Amino acid sequence: MRNFVSHAAVLATLATAGACAPVAEPIVRPLPTGAALDTAGRAFVQSVVPPQEFQAAVQRGTRSETGAPGRGYWQNRVRYTIRAEVDPRTPRVTGSERIVYVNNSPDSLPVITMNFYQNLFRQATGGLNVTRFQVAGQTLGEVSQPDYEANQREGRRTAGYLVSGTLARVLLPRALPSGDSIVFDIDWNFKVPPGTAPRTGFEDALGGRVLQVAQWYPQIAVYDDVVGRDVTAYQEQGEFYLDYGDWDVQLTLPAQYLVTATGTLQNPEQVLTPETRARLARAMQTDSVTHVVTRAELDRATLPGTNGRVTWRFRAENVRDFAFATSNRYLWDVTRGTIPTGNGGTRHIPVHAMYRPGAPFWDRAVRHADQSVEFLSRQMVPYIYPQLSVSEGPIYGMEYPMLVFVGKPTGQEERLYEVIAHEVGHEWLPMMVGQDEAAFPWMDEGITTYMEALAFQDYFPRSNHWAEPRAQVLQATSAAGSRLQPLMTHGDQQNAQLYGVTAYYKPGLLMRSLQATLGDEVFFRGMRTYMNEWMLKHPYPWDFFNTMERVSGRDLDWLWYPYFFRNVSFDQGIAAVSTAGDSVRVSVRDFGQAPGPTFLTVTMRDGTTARATIPVERWLQPSTRLQTVTLRVNGPVARVELDPEQYFLDVNRRNNVWAGK
Ligand SMILES: [Zn+2]
Repeated sequence: MRNFVSHAAVLATLATAGACAPVAEPIVRPLPTGAALDTAGRAFVQSVVPPQEFQAAVQRGTRSETGAPGRGYWQNRVRYTIRAEVDPRTPRVTGSERIVYVNNSPDSLPVITMNFYQNLFRQATGGLNVTRFQVAGQTLGEVSQPDYEANQREGRRTAGYLVSGTLARVLLPRALPSGDSIVFDIDWNFKVPPGTAPRTGFEDALGGRVLQVAQWYPQIAVYDDVVGRDVTAYQEQGEFYLDYGDWDVQLTLPAQYLVTATGTLQNPEQVLTPETRARLARAMQTDSVTHVVTRAELDRATLPGTNGRVTWRFRAENVRDFAFATSNRYLWDVTRGTIPTGNGGTRHIPVHAMYRPGAPFWDRAVRHADQSVEFLSRQMVPYIYPQLSVSEGPIYGMEYPMLVFVGKPTGQEERLYEVIAHEVGHEWLPMMVGQDEAAFPWMDEGITTYMEALAFQDYFPRSNHWAEPRAQVLQATSAAGSRLQPLMTHGDQQNAQLYGVTAYYKPGLLMRSLQATLGDEVFFRGMRTYMNEWMLKHPYPWDFFNTMERVSGRDLDWLWYPYFFRNVSFDQGIAAVSTAGDSVRVSVRDFGQAPGPTFLTVTMRDGTTARATIPVERWLQPSTRLQTVTLRVNGPVARVELDPEQYFLDVNRRNNVWAGK
C-alpha cells in the first residue's frame, strides 16, 4: 500500500508517555549487531497488494488510493413494497412484493441475481414457494439449469428464472440499460422454520409464541463496481451483502399480536389503542423507562381490527434490509434515546424493547439498548435511523436495520448486555456502512466485537471484557497453529469451530492493537472518517486499510499483511535489564514472526511508573530483533513489564515481565 510519510519522520516523533512518571524520556540506542541477532528477516512484512478487480476500480475512478470513495463511485438502489399475511399459528407468511431496481452502474445488465434465502430450510419447511414472477409486467417461468446454460451459450434471449438453492438467476426480457430501472412483481409464501434455524424462526416459550422473521422475501443481490454481480449463495455461516434503498411493508396479523420491525410505524391509529398511543407519546417526554404494555395488558394493546386482523405498516429509508418480530405475549418498554446530530445538537429517538414476561434480565433490555446506541453514537459517528428496537425470541443475536433479535442468555445481566450491545453495534457495521459481511467477516464481526467491548467497558467499568476473547485467540493460535485461517478468508470458507476466533475475537483485538499503535485521537478520527465517507456505501477492506493509513499518515502494511492476510505470531520479551545510577536500560527481543510497537512500563519501588514506547518502525529495520531503551528513573526499579495492557496478542507473556533479581 502507499507510504504517506517516511519512516524517518515517524521516528522523529518517538512516543513518550508518563503516567506519574517524573522523567520518562527513552533513548533509543543504535542497534547492536552480531551473530546473536536473528537475520532471518521479516518474511511476514510485505506490502498489501489489492486484488486486480480492486485495482481496476481505482483505475476507473470508482475507488481511490486514499480510501475515500472515488469521484466515479456508484451503487445501485432498490425500492421494496411488500404486503404480507402472517399466520403465526401455522406459521406461514404469504406475501406479494414489488421491487423497483435502479441500475446506476455504467453496465447493461442482462441477468439479475436474487436471493431466495428461505430455500436454505427447504428440507424442514419446503423453502420459498413462488406463485407469480413478473418482470416489467411480463410473467416469467422457471427455467432448468440446462435451459439456462443453453440460453447463455447460444446468446438466446428467452426470459425466465433459474432457481438453484438460495440463488435465483433472472434472465431479463431485455437487458436493463445503465441509468434505467426495472420492476419486479413477485408473489410467494413460506413456512417459518423453528427457532433452531439460523437468524429466523419461531418459538413457543414463556407462555406465548414469538416469530423473529428475517431473510424472508426475494431480494436482489448486489451488483457493484468491484466484483460486479455478487453470486454468493446463502450458506448459513457467511452473512450478507445488500443494496440500500427504501422499504414500505404492510404486515397483517391477528389482533393482539404486537409487531416490532425495521422502520417507523405509519398507522398507529389503525393498530394501537388510544391508551397505548398515549403511553408511546409520554415515553418520548422522559429519559426514564415507560412500560407501554404491561403484564396486565398483554392482550389489550392493539385495536380489534377487521375480522380479528390488524395491518401494521412500516416504512424505512436508506436501509439494506427489513425484518420483523411478533408475539401475542410481548411486553413493551420504551425509553427516549438522545443522539448527537454531529453539529453540536442532539435529537431524540424512541428505543423499544419487546419481550415475554419472565425472559431473564429483559426488564433491563431497553436500558442496555439505549446506553449502547447513545454511547456508540458519541464514540463513533451518530446513529442515523429514527428508532431502535430489541426483540426477545429464539434467535440468540442477530442484527437488522433498526431492529435486533436477541435471545435469553443465561447467567448474569452482563451476558444479556453484551449480546444487545453487540447487535446494536452492528447498526454501524454493516447497517450504516454497507460492507460485504460474507466475504469479509472481520470487517463486520471483528470491528463490531471491538465496539461491543467499548460499550461494555462503559456500562460495566470494572470489567475486563477482553480477557476471555484474548484467552480464546491465544489458545486457538497455539493449539490450532497453522489451522487458524487468515482473517481475509471468505466467511463461508472459514472453519466453523474457529469462526468465533477468526471472525470476531482476533480482529476485535487487532482493532485494539491498532488503537494503541495510533493513539486514541488518531484511531477514532480514522474510524469516523471511514464510517462517514462510506456511510450507506459499500467499502472493501482496502478502503479501510487506505483510510486508516491516510488519516494516520503511516504505512500500516506491517499490521495488515501478517495479521490479516497471514496467520503468524507476535512475541516480544525482555532480554536484559540493567540499572546504573538514575537510569535503567531495558533490552527487548522480538521472538515472533510479526512485528509491533513495544509498550514498556517500569515500576519503581515507591510505586511510581515510567513508560516508553518503541515505535514499530524501529522493528521494521532490516534484521532487527533486539532494541534497547534507556529510561531515567527516580529510585530503585522493582519491575519492568512489556505491554501490561495487553494491546498486542503476545503468544508468550512469560518473557514479558522482569521482577528484579
Ligand atoms: Zn455480530
